[in-house]
Amino acid sequence: MFFHSGSWLLAPDSLSLYDLNGFEELNNKRMRVENILTVDLEDWFHICEVEHLLPRRNWDRLPSTVVASSENLLSLLEQSGSRATFFVLGYVAEKYPELIQLIHHMGHEIAYHGWDHELVYNLSKSDFRQILRKGIRCLERLVDQRVVGFRAPQWSINNRSVWALEILAEEGFAYDSSMAPLKIIGNESYPRNPWQVSTATGQLWELPPLTLKTPFGRYPAGGSWGLRCLPYPLIRRRVQKLNERQTPALFYFHPREFGGKKSVPGLPPAKKFAVYGGVWRSGSQLKKLVADFQFISIKQYLASQ
Ligand SMILES: [Zn+2]
Repeated sequence: MFFHSGSWLLAPDSLSLYDLNGFEELNNKRMRVENILTVDLEDWFHICEVEHLLPRRNWDRLPSTVVASSENLLSLLEQSGSRATFFVLGYVAEKYPELIQLIHHMGHEIAYHGWDHELVYNLSKSDFRQILRKGIRCLERLVDQRVVGFRAPQWSINNRSVWALEILAEEGFAYDSSMAPLKIIGNESYPRNPWQVSTATGQLWELPPLTLKTPFGRYPAGGSWGLRCLPYPLIRRRVQKLNERQTPALFYFHPREFGGKKSVPGLPPAKKFAVYGGVWRSGSQLKKLVADFQFISIKQYLASQ
């Protein structure tokens, strides 16, 4: 069994109430829960399961928007003093190394998002391991620092691919952010808050995206169509509730939501909605979030645990 609750959840209550200094410090800490911001750094054509519409062999001929839209996103983060984790696609890192170095020099964390946006459950174990090694070599050369985080494209570590966690731990990753506590792409039984995974090869932190229970089911409130289409006050209230329990909320964005206006033609309606539904609202939702809350990278969050 992979799940067990992190003992850090219990830590605040174990402090003695007679230790007034400690209590005051604890209260101060409670005032300042920092939330987690993440970006999947990929181009507008990196969408899973559209190989029939945009074959891999054509990618290099497509006009890229990733640099310009990432710069828009970076300036928004800079204005608010927010820091984020950027899960970088190997394909993008190889083409635009200066972009990755710029992000790193601006104080954001560089983590990995696969090479060609491969769904993990479609890979063999040895292919997954090779893709990890190739990407880590490339990213670590660019930033001259260890890269310790992974997010699978389309949250594709789920019941079909839990073996991937063992490989991540074995390859030296400290955390993963690929298991969505949502139907269809993940599983509603997965924990909704940061948790620790025990595998045969070591421990990993797992960082799930923010979700919201609604009368219609659980929504992906931390990003994608859920974040763009849900009323902002609902999301703010959910984050406040979590923060009252000393728990951070995790959000995720894509550069394509911040300019470029390129879209993949011919997507089936459900996919089209998931990728582009309310996309014009991403910028305004993020602006409201960074105005209301403090954001840090996953690495910064884990350092405080
Ligand atoms: Zn992606």
